[in-house]
Amino acid sequence: MAYTFKGGVWPDDHKYTKNIPIEEIAPVAKVSVSLSQHVGIMCKPVVKVGEQVRVGQMIGDVPGGLGCPVHASVSGTVVQIEEVTAQRGGTSYNIVIENDGQNMLDDTVQPFGKKLSEATSEEIIAAVRSAGITGMGAAAFPAYAKLAAAAGRADTLIVNCIESEPFACASHRLVLENPAAIIHGLKIIMVALGIQRAWIAVEGIQKEERAALQSLIGDAKLIEIKKVTSKYPAGSEKQLVYALTKKEIPGGRTPLDVGIVVFNAQTCAAVYEALAKGMPLVRRIVTVDGDCIQTPKNLLVPIGTPISDLIECCGGLCAQPKKIICGGPMMGQAQWDADAPINKTTAAVLVLSEYFDYESKLPPVCIRCGRCVRACPMKLMPLKIASAIEIGRVDEAAAFGATDCIECGTCSYICPGGVPVTQLAVRAKMAVLEQRRNDARHEG
Ligand code: SF4
Ligand code: SF4
Repeated sequence: MAYTFKGGVWPDDHKYTKNIPIEEIAPVAKVSVSLSQHVGIMCKPVVKVGEQVRVGQMIGDVPGGLGCPVHASVSGTVVQIEEVTAQRGGTSYNIVIENDGQNMLDDTVQPFGKKLSEATSEEIIAAVRSAGITGMGAAAFPAYAKLAAAAGRADTLIVNCIESEPFACASHRLVLENPAAIIHGLKIIMVALGIQRAWIAVEGIQKEERAALQSLIGDAKLIEIKKVTSKYPAGSEKQLVYALTKKEIPGGRTPLDVGIVVFNAQTCAAVYEALAKGMPLVRRIVTVDGDCIQTPKNLLVPIGTPISDLIECCGGLCAQPKKIICGGPMMGQAQWDADAPINKTTAAVLVLSEYFDYESKLPPVCIRCGRCVRACPMKLMPLKIASAIEIGRVDEAAAFGATDCIECGTCSYICPGGVPVTQLAVRAKMAVLEQRRNDARHEG
Protein backbone atom coordinates (compact mmCIF):
# COMPACT_ATOMS: atom_id res chain seq x y z
CA MET A 1 0.00 0.00 0.00
CA ALA A 2 1.23 3.48 -0.84
CA TYR A 3 1.40 6.30 1.70
CA THR A 4 -0.69 9.35 0.96
CA PHE A 5 -1.92 12.74 2.23
CA LYS A 6 -5.19 14.65 2.12
CA GLY A 7 -6.07 16.93 -0.79
CA GLY A 8 -4.05 17.22 -3.96
CA VAL A 9 -4.91 16.68 -7.62
CA TRP A 10 -4.07 14.36 -10.52
CA PRO A 11 -2.96 16.50 -13.46
CA ASP A 12 -1.95 14.71 -16.72
CA ASP A 13 1.65 13.74 -16.12
CA HIS A 14 3.05 14.49 -19.63
CA LYS A 15 6.20 12.53 -18.69
CA TYR A 16 7.24 12.04 -22.31
CA THR A 17 10.96 11.89 -21.51
CA LYS A 18 10.75 9.24 -18.79
CA ASN A 19 12.47 6.67 -21.04
CA ILE A 20 14.99 9.06 -22.56
CA PRO A 21 18.48 8.70 -21.06
CA ILE A 22 20.38 11.73 -19.77
CA GLU A 23 22.48 13.38 -22.48
CA GLU A 24 25.35 15.78 -21.85
CA ILE A 25 24.83 19.06 -23.70
CA ALA A 26 27.45 19.98 -26.32
CA PRO A 27 29.98 22.62 -25.09
CA VAL A 28 28.28 26.00 -24.82
CA ALA A 29 29.80 29.33 -25.91
CA LYS A 30 29.22 31.06 -22.59
CA VAL A 31 27.51 30.68 -19.24
CA SER A 32 25.94 33.34 -17.04
CA VAL A 33 26.20 32.20 -13.41
CA SER A 34 23.79 33.92 -11.04
CA LEU A 35 25.13 35.18 -7.72
CA SER A 36 21.67 34.69 -6.24
CA GLN A 37 20.71 31.01 -6.59
CA HIS A 38 19.87 30.27 -2.97
CA VAL A 39 17.75 31.43 -0.06
CA GLY A 40 19.78 34.02 1.84
CA ILE A 41 22.25 36.74 1.00
CA MET A 42 23.42 37.27 -2.58
CA CYS A 43 27.04 36.28 -3.25
CA LYS A 44 29.70 38.89 -3.96
CA PRO A 45 31.97 38.22 -6.93
CA VAL A 46 35.49 37.03 -5.99
CA VAL A 47 36.76 37.25 -9.60
CA LYS A 48 37.19 40.24 -11.92
CA VAL A 49 36.36 40.83 -15.56
CA GLY A 50 39.25 39.55 -17.68
CA GLU A 51 40.29 36.85 -15.19
CA GLN A 52 40.80 33.24 -16.35
CA VAL A 53 38.75 30.68 -14.40
CA ARG A 54 38.59 26.91 -14.32
CA VAL A 55 35.76 24.44 -13.74
CA GLY A 56 34.92 24.21 -10.02
CA GLN A 57 36.66 27.48 -9.10
CA MET A 58 34.74 29.62 -6.64
CA ILE A 59 33.65 32.84 -8.38
CA GLY A 60 31.25 34.26 -5.81
CA ASP A 61 30.77 33.88 -2.07
CA VAL A 62 28.65 35.18 0.78
CA PRO A 63 30.91 37.02 3.24
CA GLY A 64 28.71 36.14 6.23
CA GLY A 65 25.20 34.96 7.03
CA LEU A 66 23.01 32.50 5.19
CA GLY A 67 24.04 31.62 1.64
CA CYS A 68 26.56 29.52 -0.24
CA PRO A 69 29.20 30.08 -2.88
CA VAL A 70 28.86 29.73 -6.64
CA HIS A 71 31.50 28.22 -8.94
CA ALA A 72 32.61 28.35 -12.56
CA SER A 73 30.84 25.65 -14.55
CA VAL A 74 33.13 25.98 -17.58
CA SER A 75 36.75 27.07 -17.97
CA GLY A 76 37.46 30.33 -19.76
CA THR A 77 37.45 34.09 -19.30
CA VAL A 78 35.17 36.24 -17.16
CA VAL A 79 33.84 38.74 -19.73
CA GLN A 80 31.14 40.54 -17.79
CA ILE A 81 29.40 40.91 -14.44
CA GLU A 82 25.88 41.86 -15.48
CA GLU A 83 22.69 42.98 -13.78
CA VAL A 84 19.77 40.78 -14.85
CA THR A 85 16.20 39.89 -13.92
CA ALA A 86 16.42 36.82 -11.68
CA GLN A 87 14.57 33.60 -12.60
CA ARG A 88 12.05 34.22 -9.77
CA GLY A 89 11.81 37.96 -10.45
CA GLY A 90 13.79 40.77 -8.81
CA THR A 91 17.35 41.70 -9.69
CA SER A 92 20.40 39.47 -9.69
CA TYR A 93 24.02 39.89 -10.73
CA ASN A 94 25.46 37.22 -12.97
CA ILE A 95 29.08 36.39 -13.83
CA VAL A 96 29.42 35.73 -17.56
CA ILE A 97 32.20 33.31 -18.56
CA GLU A 98 33.24 32.78 -22.17
CA ASN A 99 33.96 29.08 -22.56
CA ASP A 100 37.46 28.20 -23.84
CA GLY A 101 36.28 24.63 -24.52
CA GLN A 102 39.24 23.22 -22.55
CA ASN A 103 37.17 22.03 -19.57
CA MET A 104 40.18 22.63 -17.28
CA LEU A 105 39.57 21.63 -13.67
CA ASP A 106 40.50 24.00 -10.87
CA ASP A 107 43.18 22.82 -8.41
CA THR A 108 40.68 23.16 -5.56
CA VAL A 109 38.61 20.29 -6.99
CA GLN A 110 39.91 17.61 -4.64
CA PRO A 111 38.14 14.72 -2.90
CA PHE A 112 37.25 15.11 0.78
CA GLY A 113 40.47 13.30 1.73
CA LYS A 114 39.25 11.57 4.89
CA LYS A 115 37.40 8.36 5.56
CA LEU A 116 33.81 9.11 6.48
CA SER A 117 34.24 7.15 9.71
CA GLU A 118 37.01 9.57 10.72
CA ALA A 119 35.23 12.77 9.68
CA THR A 120 33.39 15.03 12.08
CA SER A 121 29.93 16.37 11.37
CA GLU A 122 31.39 19.89 11.14
CA GLU A 123 33.93 18.82 8.52
CA ILE A 124 31.28 17.23 6.30
CA ILE A 125 28.99 20.24 6.66
CA ALA A 126 31.86 22.60 5.78
CA ALA A 127 32.61 20.52 2.65
CA VAL A 128 28.94 20.73 1.62
CA ARG A 129 29.04 24.52 2.05
CA SER A 130 32.26 24.86 0.05
CA ALA A 131 30.61 22.92 -2.77
CA GLY A 132 27.78 25.48 -2.96
CA ILE A 133 25.06 22.86 -2.65
CA THR A 134 21.52 24.16 -2.34
CA GLY A 135 18.33 22.12 -2.22
CA MET A 136 17.81 21.12 -5.85
CA GLY A 137 14.02 20.86 -5.64
CA ALA A 138 12.29 24.22 -5.64
CA ALA A 139 13.31 25.67 -2.28
CA ALA A 140 17.02 26.47 -2.91
CA PHE A 141 17.78 26.41 0.82
CA PRO A 142 21.54 26.05 1.43
CA ALA A 143 22.18 22.36 2.17
CA TYR A 144 24.92 23.06 4.74
CA ALA A 145 22.50 25.21 6.77
CA LYS A 146 19.85 22.49 6.68
CA LEU A 147 22.43 19.94 7.87
CA ALA A 148 23.69 22.23 10.63
CA ALA A 149 20.13 22.84 11.87
CA ALA A 150 19.31 19.12 11.72
CA ALA A 151 22.37 17.86 13.60
CA GLY A 152 21.16 16.65 17.00
CA ARG A 153 17.49 17.36 16.17
CA ALA A 154 16.59 14.94 13.37
CA ASP A 155 16.30 11.20 13.84
CA THR A 156 15.11 10.32 10.33
CA LEU A 157 16.31 11.31 6.87
CA ILE A 158 13.85 11.25 3.99
CA VAL A 159 15.34 11.20 0.51
CA ASN A 160 12.75 12.64 -1.83
CA CYS A 161 12.74 10.95 -5.27
CA ILE A 162 9.24 12.16 -6.10
CA GLU A 163 8.72 14.44 -9.07
CA SER A 164 5.04 15.25 -9.00
CA GLU A 165 5.25 18.22 -11.41
CA PRO A 166 4.03 17.25 -14.90
CA PHE A 167 6.77 16.85 -17.57
CA ALA A 168 9.68 16.72 -15.07
CA CYS A 169 11.77 13.53 -15.40
CA ALA A 170 15.24 14.69 -14.27
CA SER A 171 15.20 12.92 -10.88
CA HIS A 172 13.55 9.85 -12.41
CA ARG A 173 16.44 9.46 -14.87
CA LEU A 174 18.99 10.06 -12.11
CA VAL A 175 17.45 7.29 -9.99
CA LEU A 176 17.55 4.86 -12.93
CA GLU A 177 20.98 5.82 -14.27
CA ASN A 178 22.97 6.62 -11.14
CA PRO A 179 21.22 5.30 -8.03
CA ALA A 180 24.61 4.72 -6.39
CA ALA A 181 25.25 8.49 -6.21
CA ILE A 182 21.96 8.93 -4.32
CA ILE A 183 22.65 6.08 -1.89
CA HIS A 184 26.24 7.25 -1.24
CA GLY A 185 24.96 10.81 -0.67
CA LEU A 186 22.30 9.48 1.70
CA LYS A 187 24.96 7.64 3.73
CA ILE A 188 27.16 10.75 3.91
CA ILE A 189 24.21 12.77 5.23
CA MET A 190 23.41 10.06 7.79
CA VAL A 191 27.01 10.21 9.05
CA ALA A 192 26.99 14.02 9.13
CA LEU A 193 23.81 13.99 11.22
CA GLY A 194 24.63 10.92 13.30
CA ILE A 195 21.25 9.40 12.48
CA GLN A 196 20.40 5.75 12.03
CA ARG A 197 17.26 5.75 9.90
CA ALA A 198 16.62 6.78 6.31
CA TRP A 199 13.56 6.45 4.11
CA ILE A 200 13.67 6.81 0.36
CA ALA A 201 10.34 8.13 -0.90
CA VAL A 202 9.43 6.87 -4.36
CA GLU A 203 6.12 7.07 -6.22
CA GLY A 204 4.10 3.88 -6.00
CA ILE A 205 4.01 3.53 -9.80
CA GLN A 206 7.82 3.70 -10.16
CA LYS A 207 8.70 -0.01 -10.00
CA GLU A 208 11.93 0.45 -11.96
CA GLU A 209 13.12 3.15 -9.56
CA ARG A 210 12.45 0.94 -6.57
CA ALA A 211 14.30 -1.99 -8.14
CA ALA A 212 17.33 0.19 -8.98
CA LEU A 213 17.54 1.54 -5.42
CA GLN A 214 16.75 -1.76 -3.69
CA SER A 215 19.59 -3.53 -5.49
CA LEU A 216 22.03 -1.13 -3.79
CA ILE A 217 20.40 -1.09 -0.37
CA GLY A 218 20.37 -4.87 -0.13
CA ASP A 219 18.97 -5.95 3.21
CA ALA A 220 20.20 -2.96 5.20
CA LYS A 221 17.41 -2.64 7.76
CA LEU A 222 17.88 1.04 8.50
CA ILE A 223 17.32 2.24 4.94
CA GLU A 224 13.81 1.61 3.62
CA ILE A 225 12.04 2.46 0.41
CA LYS A 226 8.59 3.94 0.98
CA LYS A 227 5.94 3.98 -1.74
CA VAL A 228 3.94 7.21 -1.98
CA THR A 229 0.71 7.71 -3.95
CA SER A 230 1.28 9.44 -7.29
CA LYS A 231 -0.62 12.67 -6.91
CA TYR A 232 0.32 16.31 -6.90
CA PRO A 233 2.03 17.72 -4.78
CA ALA A 234 3.38 14.48 -3.24
CA GLY A 235 6.93 15.81 -3.60
CA SER A 236 6.24 18.79 -1.35
CA GLU A 237 8.05 18.43 1.99
CA LYS A 238 5.13 18.90 4.34
CA GLN A 239 2.85 16.57 2.35
CA LEU A 240 5.59 13.94 2.12
CA VAL A 241 6.31 14.04 5.86
CA TYR A 242 2.59 13.78 6.61
CA ALA A 243 2.17 10.87 4.19
CA LEU A 244 4.99 8.87 5.80
CA THR A 245 4.51 9.76 9.47
CA LYS A 246 0.98 11.18 9.78
CA LYS A 247 2.60 14.08 11.64
CA GLU A 248 1.38 17.53 10.66
CA ILE A 249 3.92 20.30 10.54
CA PRO A 250 2.42 23.43 12.07
CA GLY A 251 2.41 26.73 10.17
CA GLY A 252 5.79 28.46 10.17
CA ARG A 253 7.54 25.23 11.20
CA THR A 254 9.69 22.78 9.23
CA PRO A 255 10.00 18.97 9.14
CA LEU A 256 12.76 19.33 11.77
CA ASP A 257 10.07 20.19 14.30
CA VAL A 258 8.89 16.59 14.03
CA GLY A 259 12.43 15.15 13.91
CA ILE A 260 12.66 14.74 10.13
CA VAL A 261 15.06 16.17 7.59
CA VAL A 262 14.25 15.93 3.88
CA PHE A 263 16.77 16.02 1.04
CA ASN A 264 15.97 15.86 -2.66
CA ALA A 265 17.51 12.92 -4.62
CA GLN A 266 19.57 15.25 -6.81
CA THR A 267 20.85 17.08 -3.72
CA CYS A 268 22.02 13.74 -2.25
CA ALA A 269 23.88 12.98 -5.49
CA ALA A 270 25.47 16.45 -5.36
CA VAL A 271 26.66 15.78 -1.79
CA TYR A 272 28.29 12.56 -3.01
CA GLU A 273 29.96 14.34 -5.98
CA ALA A 274 31.29 17.00 -3.60
CA LEU A 275 32.83 14.61 -1.09
CA ALA A 276 33.94 11.76 -3.35
CA LYS A 277 35.30 13.88 -6.21
CA GLY A 278 35.53 17.37 -4.73
CA MET A 279 33.27 18.67 -7.50
CA PRO A 280 31.10 21.62 -6.46
CA LEU A 281 27.56 21.97 -7.77
CA VAL A 282 28.33 23.14 -11.30
CA ARG A 283 26.01 20.95 -13.39
CA ARG A 284 22.49 19.61 -13.11
CA ILE A 285 19.99 17.48 -15.03
CA VAL A 286 17.20 19.45 -16.72
CA THR A 287 14.16 18.05 -18.53
CA VAL A 288 13.54 20.08 -21.70
CA ASP A 289 10.02 19.48 -22.97
CA GLY A 290 6.75 21.06 -24.10
CA ASP A 291 4.80 20.94 -27.33
CA CYS A 292 7.09 23.53 -28.98
CA ILE A 293 10.26 21.46 -28.49
CA GLN A 294 11.30 19.40 -31.51
CA THR A 295 13.00 16.55 -29.59
CA PRO A 296 12.39 16.62 -25.82
CA LYS A 297 15.38 15.45 -23.76
CA ASN A 298 16.89 15.14 -20.32
CA LEU A 299 20.09 17.18 -20.50
CA LEU A 300 23.08 17.42 -18.17
CA VAL A 301 24.01 21.09 -18.38
CA PRO A 302 26.53 23.48 -16.80
CA ILE A 303 24.88 25.91 -14.37
CA GLY A 304 24.46 29.24 -16.16
CA THR A 305 23.74 27.76 -19.61
CA PRO A 306 21.21 29.94 -21.49
CA ILE A 307 17.81 28.32 -22.08
CA SER A 308 18.26 28.99 -25.83
CA ASP A 309 21.23 26.55 -25.88
CA LEU A 310 19.06 23.82 -24.32
CA ILE A 311 16.37 24.43 -26.94
CA GLU A 312 18.94 24.24 -29.72
CA CYS A 313 20.32 20.97 -28.33
CA CYS A 314 16.77 19.60 -28.56
CA GLY A 315 16.52 20.38 -32.27
CA GLY A 316 14.97 23.82 -31.85
CA LEU A 317 11.31 24.80 -31.90
CA CYS A 318 8.56 23.06 -33.83
CA ALA A 319 5.69 25.45 -32.97
CA GLN A 320 5.12 29.06 -31.95
CA PRO A 321 5.81 29.33 -28.20
CA LYS A 322 3.46 31.17 -25.88
CA LYS A 323 5.37 30.58 -22.67
CA ILE A 324 8.80 29.46 -21.53
CA ILE A 325 8.66 28.10 -17.98
CA CYS A 326 11.53 27.19 -15.67
CA GLY A 327 10.23 24.37 -13.45
CA GLY A 328 6.92 22.58 -13.89
CA PRO A 329 3.59 23.98 -15.10
CA MET A 330 2.17 24.01 -11.53
CA MET A 331 4.89 25.92 -9.67
CA GLY A 332 7.36 27.04 -12.34
CA GLN A 333 8.17 30.62 -13.30
CA ALA A 334 7.43 32.06 -16.74
CA GLN A 335 10.57 33.61 -18.22
CA TRP A 336 10.91 36.93 -20.02
CA ASP A 337 13.93 35.93 -21.97
CA ALA A 338 14.98 32.75 -23.84
CA ASP A 339 18.58 33.57 -22.87
CA ALA A 340 17.81 33.35 -19.13
CA PRO A 341 20.33 30.95 -17.55
CA ILE A 342 19.77 27.60 -15.85
CA ASN A 343 20.38 27.74 -12.12
CA LYS A 344 20.82 25.16 -9.35
CA THR A 345 17.07 24.60 -8.92
CA THR A 346 15.99 24.45 -12.58
CA ALA A 347 14.60 20.91 -12.86
CA ALA A 348 12.81 21.55 -16.15
CA VAL A 349 12.47 24.00 -19.00
CA LEU A 350 9.09 23.88 -20.72
CA VAL A 351 8.32 25.64 -23.97
CA LEU A 352 4.55 25.63 -24.38
CA SER A 353 2.22 26.83 -27.12
CA GLU A 354 -1.18 28.48 -26.91
CA TYR A 355 -2.65 24.99 -26.42
CA PHE A 356 -1.29 24.89 -22.85
CA ASP A 357 -2.39 28.41 -22.01
CA TYR A 358 -5.09 27.72 -19.46
CA GLU A 359 -6.12 31.37 -19.06
CA SER A 360 -9.89 31.59 -19.44
CA LYS A 361 -11.23 33.98 -22.05
CA LEU A 362 -14.19 34.69 -19.73
CA PRO A 363 -13.98 36.92 -16.67
CA PRO A 364 -13.07 34.87 -13.58
CA VAL A 365 -15.98 34.05 -11.29
CA CYS A 366 -16.17 32.06 -8.08
CA ILE A 367 -19.17 29.73 -8.17
CA ARG A 368 -18.59 28.61 -4.55
CA CYS A 369 -18.08 25.00 -5.61
CA GLY A 370 -15.55 24.32 -2.84
CA ARG A 371 -13.18 22.34 -5.05
CA CYS A 372 -10.20 24.49 -4.08
CA VAL A 373 -10.93 23.78 -0.40
CA ARG A 374 -11.12 20.02 -0.94
CA ALA A 375 -7.95 19.99 -3.05
CA CYS A 376 -5.72 22.32 -1.02
CA PRO A 377 -3.02 20.05 0.45
CA MET A 378 -2.51 22.52 3.31
CA LYS A 379 -6.19 22.30 4.29
CA LEU A 380 -6.69 26.02 3.71
CA MET A 381 -9.75 27.76 2.29
CA PRO A 382 -8.18 29.33 -0.80
CA LEU A 383 -11.40 31.05 -1.91
CA LYS A 384 -11.66 32.85 1.44
CA ILE A 385 -8.02 33.96 1.33
CA ALA A 386 -8.51 35.11 -2.26
CA SER A 387 -11.65 37.11 -1.59
CA ALA A 388 -10.14 38.69 1.56
CA ILE A 389 -7.06 39.97 -0.27
CA GLU A 390 -9.09 41.17 -3.24
CA ILE A 391 -10.74 43.72 -0.95
CA GLY A 392 -7.54 44.48 0.95
CA ARG A 393 -8.37 42.64 4.17
CA VAL A 394 -4.90 41.48 5.11
CA ASP A 395 -5.85 40.59 8.70
CA GLU A 396 -8.68 38.38 7.44
CA ALA A 397 -6.33 36.64 4.97
CA ALA A 398 -3.93 36.05 7.86
CA ALA A 399 -6.73 34.56 9.96
CA PHE A 400 -7.47 32.12 7.14
CA GLY A 401 -3.83 30.95 7.28
CA ALA A 402 -2.45 32.67 4.15
CA THR A 403 1.12 32.27 5.37
CA ASP A 404 0.74 28.47 5.31
CA CYS A 405 0.22 28.52 1.53
CA ILE A 406 2.98 26.48 -0.13
CA GLU A 407 2.26 28.11 -3.53
CA CYS A 408 1.58 24.71 -5.09
CA GLY A 409 -0.85 25.92 -7.77
CA THR A 410 -3.44 23.24 -6.94
CA CYS A 411 -6.29 25.69 -6.30
CA SER A 412 -5.87 27.50 -9.62
CA TYR A 413 -5.56 24.18 -11.43
CA ILE A 414 -8.82 22.82 -10.00
CA CYS A 415 -10.91 26.02 -10.18
CA PRO A 416 -13.71 25.77 -12.78
CA GLY A 417 -14.38 29.51 -12.57
CA GLY A 418 -10.95 30.54 -13.88
CA VAL A 419 -10.16 32.41 -10.64
CA PRO A 420 -6.39 32.94 -10.24
CA VAL A 421 -6.68 31.55 -6.72
CA THR A 422 -3.00 30.69 -6.31
CA GLN A 423 -1.82 34.13 -7.41
CA LEU A 424 -4.27 35.73 -4.94
CA ALA A 425 -3.21 33.37 -2.14
CA VAL A 426 0.46 34.17 -2.80
CA ARG A 427 -0.34 37.89 -2.89
CA ALA A 428 -2.14 37.50 0.45
CA LYS A 429 0.81 35.61 1.95
CA MET A 430 3.24 38.34 0.86
CA ALA A 431 0.94 41.06 2.23
CA VAL A 432 0.63 39.32 5.62
CA LEU A 433 4.40 38.80 5.88
CA GLU A 434 5.02 42.43 4.90
CA GLN A 435 2.54 43.63 7.51
CA ARG A 436 4.25 41.50 10.18
CA ARG A 437 7.67 42.91 9.22
CA ASN A 438 6.29 46.46 9.46
CA ASP A 439 4.68 45.73 12.83
CA ALA A 440 7.97 44.29 14.13
CA ARG A 441 9.86 47.40 12.91
CA HIS A 442 7.43 49.72 14.69
CA GLU A 443 7.57 47.69 17.89
CA GLY A 444 11.40 47.59 17.71
S1 SF4 B 1 -1.51 27.39 -3.70
FE1 SF4 B 1 -1.77 27.65 -1.48
S2 SF4 B 1 -3.94 27.95 -1.18
FE2 SF4 B 1 -3.70 27.08 -3.24
S3 SF4 B 1 -3.89 24.88 -2.97
FE3 SF4 B 1 -1.71 25.32 -2.79
S4 SF4 B 1 -1.35 25.63 -0.59
FE4 SF4 B 1 -3.58 25.75 -0.93
S1 SF4 C 1 -12.56 26.30 -6.94
FE1 SF4 C 1 -12.82 28.34 -7.83
S2 SF4 C 1 -15.01 28.52 -8.14
FE2 SF4 C 1 -14.73 26.80 -6.75
S3 SF4 C 1 -14.87 27.71 -4.68
FE3 SF4 C 1 -12.72 27.74 -5.24
S4 SF4 C 1 -12.38 29.75 -6.15
FE4 SF4 C 1 -14.59 29.41 -6.14
